[in-house]
Amino acid sequence: MQTPDPAAVRAFLEDRHVELAAGIAEFGAREIGTLAEPADDGAARAQARHILEVLGRADWFAPIGDQDLRACCLIREALAAASPLADAVFALQALGSLPIVLAGTAQVKERWLPAVRAGRAMAAFAMTEPDAGSDVASLATTARRDGSDYILRGTKTLISNAGIADFYTVFASTDAALGRRGISCFVVPADAPGLRYVGPQVLSAPHPLGEIAFTDCRVPAACRVGDEGEGYRLGLATLDRLRATVAAAACGMAARALEEALAHALGRRQFGKPLAEFQLIQEKLARMAIELAAARLLVYRAAWEADRAGGAGGATRVTLEAAMAKAFATEAAQRIVDAGVQILGGRGVLASHPVDRLYRSVRALRIYEGTTEIQHLIVAGQLIRAAEAARAARGNS
Ligand SMILES: Cc1cc2nc3c(=O)[nH]c(=O)nc-3n(C[C@H](O)[C@H](O)[C@H](O)COP(=O)(O)OP(=O)(O)OC[C@H]3O[C@@H](n4cnc5c(N)ncnc54)[C@H](O)[C@@H]3O)c2cc1C
Repeated sequence: MQTPDPAAVRAFLEDRHVELAAGIAEFGAREIGTLAEPADDGAARAQARHILEVLGRADWFAPIGDQDLRACCLIREALAAASPLADAVFALQALGSLPIVLAGTAQVKERWLPAVRAGRAMAAFAMTEPDAGSDVASLATTARRDGSDYILRGTKTLISNAGIADFYTVFASTDAALGRRGISCFVVPADAPGLRYVGPQVLSAPHPLGEIAFTDCRVPAACRVGDEGEGYRLGLATLDRLRATVAAAACGMAARALEEALAHALGRRQFGKPLAEFQLIQEKLARMAIELAAARLLVYRAAWEADRAGGAGGATRVTLEAAMAKAFATEAAQRIVDAGVQILGGRGVLASHPVDRLYRSVRALRIYEGTTEIQHLIVAGQLIRAAEAARAARGNS
């Protein structure tokens, strides 16, 4: 069984994707899967920077700039199966740089995108604040124009790569009176005066996370990405496009759990026969495989739609399908990984076992880049709007 498995979603892929899937599966197993799980947060941060270089040297970040979402999904599936930390490194290169790809000036693109692609610059995406999580529009960080600069003030929390990133793509209000229409996006170099890494927020799975603060942080106006007031739309467009890749990472973790569970069920004997011969175990394996197959179909359908829609992002169908894919795949992956642990028995909860690492890693996927509840609100909102429009059209005819 190969992760990713292009045969499972062939209808949504081009020939180049099939080739890429084989390449990243082999690379992931050889270069990433062989890295030991970091012992603590400091080691995770060092390993993340190492992985960045390894992926950059092999040019695996290229599909981010090329906006080939299906390729990004295949890469995230393979990396998540080999190492959820490596998946996070890839994910943040995409999240932190896509706003630049979509709306950056030539100068900002030139400064950061080649370095992102080569793994010489690590990206971060700073949206969440202590009082603005799901309700992004309520963010309180401000960016005040001062001559040819902006001055940023505020705090960002739960930021992946905080403390190790080379730049942060930051969302701040340039006009509080305008609410979400007053939010703008900035690329802030990590060494900008007034930007401070407050400290780490340590997860149970290896994943560099932390807080940053802006105290009169001065950046040239040229660091703004898109027009003033365009930040909210740009942030949502970025999340819309990349949501399918979070779902793909969930599939990668689920696929690895299924692989580990299957191998164990075939090898482990109890009551005189392999676990795989017990129907209660078979039922678990079957559910895991069915949910994984369904999740993959939703993921690659969403990515295919996004690739068809082109770079603009935010198209209605992409929003709906990406939300469906993220909600279903991340929830399914949680169930699949949990079943994997159960089949492994006691070995499945040993910190040294890959399935235990998956168990600790998969949980966050249901929370970041929009929780499951928020995805459900998006799906229901679209259903209701479509039904209302149909009803209004009937009323007018
Ligand atoms: C591992 C990890 C990495 C992250 N990396 C980043 C990053 O790099 N950059 C970044 O900006 N952020 C990042 N985040 C933050 C993440 O995006 C937020 O945690 C997420 O958006 C939820 O916000 P919150 O934690 O404040 O929860 P809240 O918004 O406070 O939500 C708490 C609970 O209430 C529910 N809820 C909220 N509103 C509603 C509603 N209207 N209806 C029903 N239920 C609702 C939520 O679904 C959730 O279950 C990361 C988080 C994690 C865990």
